[in-house]
Amino acid sequence: MSFRNISKEALVGSITLGVVFVAGYFFGKKKSYRMSISKSHCGGKDNPLMQYVLNHSMREHPVLKKLRLRTMEDSWNIMMVACEQAQFMGNLAKLINAKKALEIGVYTGYNTLNMALSLPDDGVVVACDISEEYTGIGKPFWKEAGVEHKIDLRIQPAVNTLDDLLAAGQAGTFDFAFIDADKVNYDNYYERSLQLLRKGGIIAIDNVLWGGKVLNPAPDDADTLAIDKLNKKLHKDARISLSMLTVGDGLTLAVKL
Ligand code: SAM
Ligand code: CA
Repeated sequence: MSFRNISKEALVGSITLGVVFVAGYFFGKKKSYRMSISKSHCGGKDNPLMQYVLNHSMREHPVLKKLRLRTMEDSWNIMMVACEQAQFMGNLAKLINAKKALEIGVYTGYNTLNMALSLPDDGVVVACDISEEYTGIGKPFWKEAGVEHKIDLRIQPAVNTLDDLLAAGQAGTFDFAFIDADKVNYDNYYERSLQLLRKGGIIAIDNVLWGGKVLNPAPDDADTLAIDKLNKKLHKDARISLSMLTVGDGLTLAVKL
């Protein structure tokens, strides 16, 4: 059949489909390891369904809201935990009657404040970070919310703080841990948190999908390798029960058995 026998509309249609297919192939290829499920920062204006979720579930404490808005002024605000995820973790902490929590990676302390607000008055959040600058943004808000007495901020590499807690005999005494600092140390944080947790305690691990990069069969960056290695290890780890949630950038919940 020659082109002469094809109608003009069919020819235009075929060419259009071809262009769409080729563009889709290359565009899809480029994006294939860069996907996120949904992370709101309590915005969600570009996603009506996320906006609905936020409108119908968020009960953000007024000082948390102030801290979130202050954090949004910082150039690294992408690091802040999603507010609906923080609220979920606060609910988990209440569900297990948590009193002692670890925050591994504080940044401006949105989730640190969220956890402090979720714990009873004699509760404590051991907050681990290396940055005076980032954590300094959060401190006045912790005070304003009236929970600074529940926050034990330790500025040094988190591995050292966790080792200090173990050396001080605090193994088996924590209820909740949120792992959200440098990804290459995730396994170090996991192993130490597991020792520090009591049975039935929960470890929440953030960014376990790493923007979709975990789908790459041959990742060449240390962060993706570390996250993927830990994901694989946890799947077989008999010391915990496990869920991997498609919340935010992927959130693993490991319950100590
Ligand atoms: N969980 C925080 C929240 O609620 O918004 C976000 C944490 S942010 C993704 C990661 C933080 O880890 C940064 O503040 C960074 O300074 C900190 N960090 C990086 N390397 C670290 C290390 N070796 N020890 C402790 N903190 C570290
Ligand atoms: Ca994170």
